[in-house]
Amino acid sequence: METAPAPVIVAIDGPSGTGKSSTSKAVAAKLGLSYLDTGAQYRAMTWWMLGNGVDVDDPAAVAAAADKPALVSGTDPAAPTITVDGRDASAPIRTQAVTAAVSAVSAVPDVRTRVTALQRSIASGAPHGIVVEGRDIGTTVLPDADLKIFLTASPEARAARRSGELKGREAADLSTTREALLKRDTADSSRRASPLKQADDAVVVDTTELSLEQVVECVVTLVEEKQRAR
Ligand code: C5P
Repeated sequence: METAPAPVIVAIDGPSGTGKSSTSKAVAAKLGLSYLDTGAQYRAMTWWMLGNGVDVDDPAAVAAAADKPALVSGTDPAAPTITVDGRDASAPIRTQAVTAAVSAVSAVPDVRTRVTALQRSIASGAPHGIVVEGRDIGTTVLPDADLKIFLTASPEARAARRSGELKGREAADLSTTREALLKRDTADSSRRASPLKQADDAVVVDTTELSLEQVVECVVTLVEEKQRAR
């Protein structure tokens, strides 16, 4: 009797606009793995704080509320979901108000402790394995991941991708998008609690000149190599 392959854990980190979400979803779908967008969890936490009158610039107020919202993530890469207290949060977490506030909320250690515990429990419960995308997955959340990828791209390419994604929803010109994105990266990279950082054993993929298909193929090949080597 053939034994099922052991679950594989893939960590994909990097700043915004590098193609993390599209890549992670496509890799998970191709390999039959679950998928977790950890940025969506921090956004959901932020959306709840904004909606419940918590001053997001007051770390003590954010910390005091960190245990309150019930976050539930659906991990099907074809249709990932996120609910907060049972309400679908997938659209409101993408608004500019949430994007502007999320770095302040995600920098609060109590928020990170809570969300990290959730992430670990979701990853360990994925039957065939999981692709987890974020900022600190390879360094802090899942340091024993089978494969760690760190995606990078030039600021220009990242801003162009982000403004393409926003088109029609919340139109912003390229330079405004670029400024907002760099500001968020600086905040995420310089915070004390688990900053955006490349793990020492991560494979760095610069996506500036690559199509999504090329990046997906590259990551799928790396995962398959790891699976064969185990
Ligand atoms: O990936 P996305 O841009 O949706 O992430 C939103 C924010 O969530 C990031 O700017 C960062 O502040 C926070 N985040 C984090 N750690 C993660 C994933 C996201 O701090 N693992």
